[in-house]
Amino acid sequence: MLRSILTYYAKARENDAFGLLLRPKVLANLRRFDQESKARPLTMTSAPPGIEIELTNRCNLACVQCLRSRGLKPYALGDLSFENYQRILAQFPYLTHLGLNGFGEPLLHNRFFDVVAYTRREKPSCKITIYSNGLLIDADRAARLMDCGVKDLNISIDAAIPLTYQRVRRGGRLQVVHENIRRLMQVRRDTRARFPRVGLNFVMLNENEGELVPFVEQAADFGVDFINCISYASYDWGSATAGRPGATAASSMPPQRAWRSWACGASRSRRRICPGPIRGTASTAASSGARV
Ligand code: SF4
Repeated sequence: MLRSILTYYAKARENDAFGLLLRPKVLANLRRFDQESKARPLTMTSAPPGIEIELTNRCNLACVQCLRSRGLKPYALGDLSFENYQRILAQFPYLTHLGLNGFGEPLLHNRFFDVVAYTRREKPSCKITIYSNGLLIDADRAARLMDCGVKDLNISIDAAIPLTYQRVRRGGRLQVVHENIRRLMQVRRDTRARFPRVGLNFVMLNENEGELVPFVEQAADFGVDFINCISYASYDWGSATAGRPGATAASSMPPQRAWRSWACGASRSRRRICPGPIRGTASTAASSGARV
């Protein structure tokens, strides 16, 4: 009991969500959800404390590892309307964390900041996270992101050099992303905003083998808060992708030997230079796509 109280306190502190402590029903649901997740009953009585809502399935990139590029998104592209977003959110009374992502770039949604402001008003203790490719974070958006309600901003890069970036994140330019990150961090320092915490994502592919250490060094230079280091596991989707226009071959997961050497190099490098934690994450093809 004491341990779970301390855990909830630590979560609330990290996310500046002390309001959560004043919402006994939300807390009680969270506790019941944790218990049921461990016990795995046939039917859960708790409501989901965390969800992801896809604001848009449009994107300004066509990354090699993304399900979009592999022909698994055959349906029409478009944005979730603000009214439908409100309806969906209302169905989850006990949310503590929300990802505004799916298989698209969330900052392309023309009411993105309205959505965040509304969510903040309706669910003040809910942690909002987004994954972005970072290309649209210009000066205006950087300023608007400060303490707007987004707690974690994950920027996916997957490369340390421009050539690799162009090969993996097709349609983007690494220099633009780097400029945007530098400006974003500068705005956060200038405004003394506490949020968003900014992290950089690196999905480990054969295409970017050997670039994790320089990537960590760049992240340290930018002064970001954390790094997500994600291993890529491709599924054999078989007939799901066969013959789909635009489908590309999957990148294969790097050999374990190489992965280990990257991880060791990265953690040595992090101890030396990186202020924030490296979060190791196993990612499927689906989730690496979702993590923009
Ligand atoms: S991985 Fe993300 S940025 Fe790349 S195409 Fe897919 S949704 Fe867009």
